[in-house]
Amino acid sequence: MTTLYPQVVSCVICGAENECTFLGSTNSFGSPDLDYRPAGMARYTLIYEVQTCVNCGFSAPAISDDFKEYLTKIKTGQKEQLNKIKEIIASKEYKELLNNEFFPDFSNSFLASSCILEKIGNYNSAFFMAMKSAWIADDNDNINAAQYSRNKALKLLDRTTDDFIDNSTRLLLKIELLRRTARFEEAEKLINQALIELQSDENATQLITYQNRLIYKKDTAVHKIDEGMMV
Ligand SMILES: [Zn+2]
Repeated sequence: MTTLYPQVVSCVICGAENECTFLGSTNSFGSPDLDYRPAGMARYTLIYEVQTCVNCGFSAPAISDDFKEYLTKIKTGQKEQLNKIKEIIASKEYKELLNNEFFPDFSNSFLASSCILEKIGNYNSAFFMAMKSAWIADDNDNINAAQYSRNKALKLLDRTTDDFIDNSTRLLLKIELLRRTARFEEAEKLINQALIELQSDENATQLITYQNRLIYKKDTAVHKIDEGMMV
């Protein structure tokens, strides 16, 4: 059961009040996709995982004071980061990103949030927001938005930290992102590298073999981890 509740929060950037919907709980029973998109209800609650201020356009996983958990732990650094965000959201580039009429609205919010997080050096969260943009784009059958988001995620993935994504998961994710964006040649190269690097990991090897098969068929569709483990 998914529970939602509304709450009025003040934007940490401009102070404006926003009525946001929060996710109390959800579930993710079943196999995730090859790119770790969760199954179950959690698959469909993405739109509650980004907020955009109605006044200044600040987009983030949380636009209230709670956003501070995405900033550096150093107090003086936090102030600098918040000032930097003010500059970013005032820029033409940011406004265009947030209001791209060719992409789904929620993809735009996730991409805008990803852009801010990247610019303040939080690559882990920036990566995750780009992935969520891709999933929204998938749900809206918007191929261009999905490709753009996945290419963005691929670039950010290299900058994520090992405590966020371990090395073997990062490699598997890279192969998956390359396959989903039809960058088959690059995916094949990485498969050869991964088969050597992860040869002692049985599950990883099975997934890489499955990816190899999908890439051979030039398959760019969504598939579940379970499917890869069953072949
Ligand atoms: Zn605001």
